This record gives sequence, structure tokens and C-alpha cells, in this order.
Amino acid sequence: MVGTGVFAEILDGDVYKYYGDGEWKKCASGKSVAIINPTTRKTQYKVQACSQEEVNKVMEIAKAAQKSWAKTPLWKRAELLHKAAAILKEHKFPIAECLVKEIAKPAKDSVTEVVRSGDLVSYCAEEGVRILGEGKFLVSDSFPGNERTKYCLTSKIPLGVVLAIPPFNYPVNLAVSKIAPALIAGNSLVLKPPTQGAVSCLHMVHCFHLAGFPKGLINCVTGKGSEIGDFLTMHPGVNCISFTGGDTGIAISKKAGMIPLQMELGGKDACIVLEDADLDLVASNIIKGGFSYSGQRCTAVKVVLVMESVADALVEKVKAKVAKLTVGPPEEDSDITPVVSESSANFIEGLVKDAKEKGATFCQPYKREGNLIWPLLLDHVRPDMRIAWEEPFGPVLPVIRINSVEEGIHHCNASNFGLQGCVFTRDINKAMLISDAMETGTVQINSAPARGPDHFPFQGIKDSGIGSQGITNSINMMTKIKSTVINLPTPTYTTG
Ligand code: NAP
Repeated sequence: MVGTGVFAEILDGDVYKYYGDGEWKKCASGKSVAIINPTTRKTQYKVQACSQEEVNKVMEIAKAAQKSWAKTPLWKRAELLHKAAAILKEHKFPIAECLVKEIAKPAKDSVTEVVRSGDLVSYCAEEGVRILGEGKFLVSDSFPGNERTKYCLTSKIPLGVVLAIPPFNYPVNLAVSKIAPALIAGNSLVLKPPTQGAVSCLHMVHCFHLAGFPKGLINCVTGKGSEIGDFLTMHPGVNCISFTGGDTGIAISKKAGMIPLQMELGGKDACIVLEDADLDLVASNIIKGGFSYSGQRCTAVKVVLVMESVADALVEKVKAKVAKLTVGPPEEDSDITPVVSESSANFIEGLVKDAKEKGATFCQPYKREGNLIWPLLLDHVRPDMRIAWEEPFGPVLPVIRINSVEEGIHHCNASNFGLQGCVFTRDINKAMLISDAMETGTVQINSAPARGPDHFPFQGIKDSGIGSQGITNSINMMTKIKSTVINLPTPTYTTG
């Protein structure tokens, strides 16, 4: 149960504690932040509002803890991560319950998120012992003018303190996708969870606590990003930032110091549909890609670019499937659940109104109750409508009819985002040409965009991000190359 049993110590009255120096703590100020349940629109949980002094303390502790963690053998780091993964999976139900209440994620998907997170932690431990167990050996005489008098040995060393900031939509999974690579690589960690999703994160962090990691190695400070975010991201104690979220990431990139950044930001993933596509396959992927978790996914299909000749047929198929989507509370595993906040629902409504005024065809009537927005397919969307370019992060999907593949590619590439995209065709040669022409981090052929499996490289270009995620890439990103050069008095190949 949430906040009970093994989790009882993370709660003080009705406020969840923050985690620093291996202990659950209360803020000295006594201030808290309310977490609003998107379904009931009432306060569900409260978390500590950490102050700058408390952040400073945590940074100091994390710095000290990292020094000894870096000297801990890799196999021991991996062992602890495997233990944490098992504990996390054991407690999947209470953590999933938090996700249901904090972010209105359907119950089954919430459980899946926790299990996937446990698997990610284990995979990361396994991958880490292998890739961090290898280095390079170079000899000097391959570069002009050199004899074989130098041997260079390279290995990967940790960066120091990693600041991890995940978004609300996958608070647990996107937190562990930063925590696990940071730890296996020998870094310590300060986690700033999203406000919606903070209690899920605190439960997850407690699983790492129960696994027995050294004190101070993992820390979790809570509070509104708008209040402590800048202080955290500009803190001199931070040696690396791994952030997932929206435009906030662009602002952070401009303010952060000279440290490695991993930024996974927004997307406007295009789905290009050619005349020869299997339209049933396309329709199911549009439903899965556009409406899962009510469209609140970075890799959701956010615009359909379909050839005019097959557009009517495709729109009919998608409409029929939209009619079958269930709409309601997350506890009942509804397909469409309330979006995360009232302001998010208002933003989506603004995009819908703009499309209405500019003449889009509504395939369903627009309907909203509180934060719950019924799934909506907008046909005949044109480039002058906001929905053609902006990320609704809700269950509203625009369809733009195109007359050539080039038109589709042009629309995709004119976006300021470049996360993923997909193309549907039976012609693999055409698909490859289109994939190469699309300016996105990934192109899926004959399937909706997706972040997983979690060991695949995952990256956005343009305003969609900096760097690349995925287990191997994250481990590498959270390390630095260290070289040791053995200088020899004579070239080694002269004897014998
Ligand atoms: P967001 O508003 O940018 O928030 C992301 C995180 O940043 C939250 O933890 C938030 O904390 C924190 N934050 C807010 N202001 C901050 C500041 N000044 N300094 C530091 N941190 C700050 O994004 P969101 O609404 O949670 O998530 C939706 C967005 O994430 C969408 O744009 C989506 O496309 C993107 N996303 C991208 C990926 C990807 O991998 N590319 C994956 C998932 C989501 P508070 O909650 O306390 O404000």
C-alpha cells in the first residue's frame, strides 16, 4: 500500500519526506507542495518543498559519497542495482497506485511502467559491467612522425554528481533511466522528480534505499521546478544534467555551466502514409501511437501526413477505432484518462478552438469534462493551424492530406522538433529513402514511434534534444575517458 508497510517511514503525517544522506527528512521550513489528482482535481498527496539550504546540503553529501562509490568494485555496484531492481518489481503495485493517482495513468500501464523500470535497472547493471570493464589500448606509431614509444591505456571514469530531472509522464521509468546508468558508472545522484509523479518517485527511491546503497549516494529533493529548478541546474556542485521534459530543457541548456548535458525534449512525431500502405496496420498504429496514455507521450504520433488518394479510407478506419476507445478514470483502465492538469487541458482546448476557427473537419464532437478530453481526430488540417506544429500532449490528433511524399517530408522537416517519425509503405526501398530524408532522431518503418526497448539508442535533433539516451549511450554519457600513457625510452619494436 502507498505510504504504509515498508513505505511508512517515507511519510510524515500527510506529507511525504525527501531523501538525503540515506535518511528520510522533513524540510526545516515546514512548507509543502500539493499534488493534485488529475481525475478528482483534489489534493491527493503532499511533498516537502525543499529550500536552497537543503539543496546545498544534499549536493555536499552527494559529492562526498561519490568519492568512495567510485572506488567500489563494478561487480558490487551491479549487485546492488540488481537488488534494487528486484525490490522495485516486488513493490510494483503500491508504486503503480501512486502513478494512477498522481498522473492518471491507466492502472495496467502503471504496473507495466514499474516492471519495465526494474528490467531497465537490471539490464543497465549487466551492460555496465561489460562496457565499463573494457578500455582501449593504442600505440603511438600509427600517427605520422611517431615511433612506437608510447602506449596509451584508456578507461571510463565517473563524472561526479549527476542531476536527474524526469518529466511527469513516465516519472519512474525516466528517473531510473538516469539513476541506473549514473550509479553503475560510479556517479552519485540528486533526483528532482516532477511534482506530478513525485510520490511515485519517492516510493521508487525507497526501493533503492532498501537495497542498501551507501548513505548520500542517492538523494531526492522535492519541490516545484519553477522554484528550485534554476538553483539546482545552475548549482556548482552538479557535474552532469540528465533532463527529460519540454521547452524547460532549452532554457536549462542556456543556463547550465560547462558540464555534459543529456536533454530529451518534446516532439511532433509525423506519421507519413503512402498509397501502398497496409491501412489496417496504419490505423491500429495511429490509435496506439496517438492515443495511448491520452497522447501524453513524447513519441506519440502527433501529426498524420497521408496521401490524398488513401486519406478517406484511412480516416474512416481510424474513426471506427476511435469510437471504440473507452473514456474514464485510470482506475478502470480506460484507454483515455484525464490529462495531467487543468492548464494542460486548457492548452489542448486552445489548439482545438484554433483548428475549429480555421476550418478543420471534426471527426468527433469536441467534448471535455474537467481534465478529461474525449479522443478527437481532426481531418483536413492545414499548415496555418497551430495543431499542425504544436505538441498538444493530449488525445487530439491532426490529419494533413498530402499530394506527394516530398510534401510529407517537407512538413516533417519544417518542424522545430525532430524526435521520431514513422513511415508506412510496403516498399522497403522507398521507406529507406524517406527515413534518410526525415530530420528526426529515429524513424520507425511500419510501426508507430516508440522510446523502447530501453536499450535502443533514443535521441532527438533540433529542439528535441541534446545527446542520446538508451542504456549504453547513457552509461557512456555519464562517464569521461581517462588516458594513462606509458612513455618508453626506445621504440618497442627495435629489439630482437
Ligand atoms: P516540463 O514541464 O518541462 O517538466 C519536466 C521536469 O522539469 C519536471 O520535473 C519539472 O518539475 C522540471 N522543471 C520545471 N521547471 C524547471 C526549471 N526551471 N529547472 C529545472 N527543472 C524544472 O515537462 P512535463 O510537462 O513534465 O513533460 C512533458 C514534456 O516532456 C513534453 O514536451 C514531452 O514531449 C516531453 N518528454 C520528452 C521525452 C523524451 O524522451 N524526448 C520523454 C517524455 C516526455 P515540476 O513538475 O516540479 O515543474
